[in-house]
Amino acid sequence: MNTSFDVVVIGGGLAGMVSAGLLAKMGFSVNLLEKGTYPRHKVCGEFVSFESEFALDKMGVVLRDLSPIKIEQFTLSTTTGSKARLNLPQPGIGLSRYKLENVLYEQLLKLGVTVNCKTKVTEVSQLDGDAGHIVHAQHGNTITSKLVIGAFGKRSGLQVISLNRSGYFAAKNHYRFPFNPNEVQLHMFPGGYGGMSMVESNLVNFCYLGKTVDLKKSGSIEAYQKMVVGKNPYLKELLDKGEPMLKKTLTISQIDFGHRNRVSNGVFHAGDAGGVIHPLSGNGMSMAINSALLLSEVSERFLSGRITRKQMENQYSKSWEKSFGLRMISSRFYQSLFEHSWGRKIAVGALKNKTLGRKLIRLTHGKPQEYVSNAV
Ligand SMILES: Cc1cc2nc3c(=O)[nH]c(=O)nc-3n(C[C@H](O)[C@H](O)[C@H](O)COP(=O)(O)OP(=O)(O)OC[C@H]3O[C@@H](n4cnc5c(N)ncnc54)[C@H](O)[C@@H]3O)c2cc1C
Repeated sequence: MNTSFDVVVIGGGLAGMVSAGLLAKMGFSVNLLEKGTYPRHKVCGEFVSFESEFALDKMGVVLRDLSPIKIEQFTLSTTTGSKARLNLPQPGIGLSRYKLENVLYEQLLKLGVTVNCKTKVTEVSQLDGDAGHIVHAQHGNTITSKLVIGAFGKRSGLQVISLNRSGYFAAKNHYRFPFNPNEVQLHMFPGGYGGMSMVESNLVNFCYLGKTVDLKKSGSIEAYQKMVVGKNPYLKELLDKGEPMLKKTLTISQIDFGHRNRVSNGVFHAGDAGGVIHPLSGNGMSMAINSALLLSEVSERFLSGRITRKQMENQYSKSWEKSFGLRMISSRFYQSLFEHSWGRKIAVGALKNKTLGRKLIRLTHGKPQEYVSNAV
């Protein structure tokens, strides 16, 4: 194994794979280290906004060729079933993470990225001066590189974040269930909400976010779904009549939306590692992909000697804020509204006014072209 690369990317989710792919296309040697393997299912709403298209195209993956489901409508319902429906200001697609990540993985191999799966990074140490980093992985492997990209997701031992103990957990399964393919639905229930949309296999992906404390009180995921999630009539219907296709509902715990640094100890964070947006925005994947695009642009300037590391830090932090700052604030505000029954009613009421509704949704998204010209 080559032990010296221009770039080491830690974490092979969307942000990591797109960073690796774009930098390899620019001609740099890239090593991607991923603790898991491909293909795999992931807990995710699987609604991909079209903002992702540009960056994926650039690394040679054409979203529209992956037989995704085009989604143009949005429905939001309160716990009691009161609902609003409108056309999305920008359509999106339904595509499983299983398929998307696997296609990206295959593309990385074609682009000549060295991908090491089942390789967990344990530590990153900075070399003196501007000499780069040493990345330490399990089993005693060490790799040196000029640049390290941390794309290790919302929670990893590599980043210190103060976890809120009363945080959230999330779960997902695919269901065989009659559903309008043109629609993404967001249904609220006490303490949480769940999204439903169809993916390329014509199955309905149902993914939800709930309070860990409520799950503990219920005793099991099945009891929680029955007692808490099923309070919403639309979700009750899915859970009663839908046929779950994954043997076990997938879950993740300790989800925290607190602050993340864009750069830490010289490691540049992309995707959730640099900032976690609330899932109700349906925008985390695009943010992961587009932060990778921003990062690849500034990385190219640094690696080709046109800017210093310090300048790269400033440029990345500024362009990140400019691209994602507003949507982080608005989605945080919507999330806090969803915490209260009066807030949920207001949200549905606001979406009933279609012009206002589209404006509010737009606040959690960006425009596809923004990313090209946005780098400072
Ligand atoms: C409930 C829920 C629903 C969501 N629904 C949507 C949606 O519908 N649409 C949308 O756009 N977004 C959605 N999101 C957000 C979206 O899933 C994330 O924003 C996106 O996956 C972030 O990608 P990432 O590459 O940054 O992180 P990840 O996809 O989490 O990838 C991180 C990778 O790093 C690896 N890793 C971690 N630590 C190490 C280590 N030490 N060494 C090596 N590898 C490591 C992990 O194995 C993982 O593969 C949702 C999120 C949640 C929680």
